[in-house]
Amino acid sequence: MPETTSLAWFRRDLRLHDNAALAAACDADRVVPVYCVDPREYGDRPFGGPDSFDFEKTGAHRARFRLESLSDLRASLRDRGSDLLVREGRPESVLPEVAAAVDADVVTVHTRPTPEESSVESAVETELRDDGVELRRFWGHTLTHVDDLPMALSALPDTYTTFRKAVESAAEDADADAATGRGSARVGDSAVGDHVGRNSSGRNLAGRDPLSEPTVPPLPRDAPDAGDLPAVSDLVGIPDAEFDPAPDDRGVLPFDGGETAALDRVASYIWAGDNLREYKETRNGLLGADYSSKFSPWLNEGCLSPRYVKAEVDRYEDRRVANDSTYWLVFELRWRDFFQFQFAKHGRDFFRREGIRERTDIDWRRDDAQFERWAAGKTGIPFVDANMRELNATGYMSNRGRQNAASFLANDLRLDWRRGAAYFETRLVDYDPASNYGNWAYIAGVGNDSRDRSLDVRWQAKRYDENAEYVTTWLPELDALPAEYAREPWKLSEDEQASYGVELGVDYPEPMVDLDER
Ligand SMILES: Cc1cc2nc3c(=O)[nH]c(=O)nc-3n(C[C@H](O)[C@H](O)[C@H](O)COP(=O)(O)OP(=O)(O)OC[C@H]3O[C@@H](n4cnc5c(N)ncnc54)[C@H](O)[C@@H]3O)c2cc1C
Repeated sequence: MPETTSLAWFRRDLRLHDNAALAAACDADRVVPVYCVDPREYGDRPFGGPDSFDFEKTGAHRARFRLESLSDLRASLRDRGSDLLVREGRPESVLPEVAAAVDADVVTVHTRPTPEESSVESAVETELRDDGVELRRFWGHTLTHVDDLPMALSALPDTYTTFRKAVESAAEDADADAATGRGSARVGDSAVGDHVGRNSSGRNLAGRDPLSEPTVPPLPRDAPDAGDLPAVSDLVGIPDAEFDPAPDDRGVLPFDGGETAALDRVASYIWAGDNLREYKETRNGLLGADYSSKFSPWLNEGCLSPRYVKAEVDRYEDRRVANDSTYWLVFELRWRDFFQFQFAKHGRDFFRREGIRERTDIDWRRDDAQFERWAAGKTGIPFVDANMRELNATGYMSNRGRQNAASFLANDLRLDWRRGAAYFETRLVDYDPASNYGNWAYIAGVGNDSRDRSLDVRWQAKRYDENAEYVTTWLPELDALPAEYAREPWKLSEDEQASYGVELGVDYPEPMVDLDER
């Protein structure tokens, strides 16, 4: 038998555990792991359509996290006698070159349902096909495999609760069948099997276990030079001198990139810290490392598999406690799944201002000055500003913060929600197209919910930051104020401003809208 050679094309799956694409690549005799730094993912890009605007695709926080993740993956592969080739260039140019250099037969990759990502896959597939090389796609970034959904993608419910209940009850039925020896249900008409490369013949409704790490063969001798990783300043629009890699000590976590740090975080959050038992009660917090899991950056760059997280939750339930909190972490992971499948169903429609609901009744405005105030955390509404300043300083914002910052832009200011979403795209360390645009559309009322999702940010601040500890952490200029005024400084009289030493319009902005008029 002639030797077979594969390229394991890494994208946002920067891990060795539960990696179906890597495992399949390792079926070949020779394996060359490759990562392409695609120039389209960096620098300024236009957001098309009416009222087009420019935004930076990837900011410094995510670029740093990604480069650390690549460095960690390369180190793990080197420990196993292999390596990670890193090339700057479009995958559809780079991969055929590397494939030709090592005489590869096949390239394996994890597919993504979002339009930009899947169009790159198609371009790569076309170029490779011309050279007689096969591209094999795998689905591996959700908790439920796309082939295991209890409905066809075209019939996917557009509301989360309906989706979740269908997935949960299919899993319960499958578990019951397994217990009575009837085996799990299998359905032949795999809804999107072709799309992902027919790696499943039936559905595993109970859910799949994470795959163990494959044995990666040593890098072939004729493999090209591994190449250097770029620096953050090569990728983002800030000069070296201005990039401060030191984490802000007010941030919730330093967020070190890579699979090693991801597995450490799972161990410390779930096991050492024993935080999972209270997750449901603490998850709306704003300050500190452990009010929520903080798994999102690692999940989104693929350093962590959601199935691994679920397996750890199951183990925790067996060994420590099974309660509402342990259920709720999986409930949130299903939200993540939901948006991935929604994008697989609706595609580009999610990026339209009118959204998948085709709402033409909302009068979206454009006001660059107002947008800049929101982005800089200078709206004069402390709860919004503190969250935006945390985002800018650290790349992270709590879920509670994201909902309020987004609702303020979309529902109070009525500025084009996509501009806010694009700003999050630049800044978030955990940005994912489906989770980000899906959540933004939801809050703006053009996504997966027909109900009004606008939030009263004053009420929210009182409910979730009663002592104003959060706002004064990020807005130290309000530190001298009693909590009520730190949350709503526009209520200060002139005399009170003088006595506390906080002058509105000088030390902290006047509010840019009158929330009482809403
Ligand atoms: C406007 C807006 C934009 C958002 N953009 C993103 C984004 O780009 N990337 C991202 O991962 N999440 C996004 N979210 C969802 C959520 O805010 C984050 O996943 C969460 O804050 C991450 O912190 P955590 O890992 O501690 O979450 P936890 O509370 O510990 O939740 C565990 C995991 O569940 C998933 N999850 C939780 N809530 C959601 C949700 N509403 N939608 C989808 N997945 C969820 C995440 O993977 C998260 O890591 C956004 C939410 C809003 C309101």
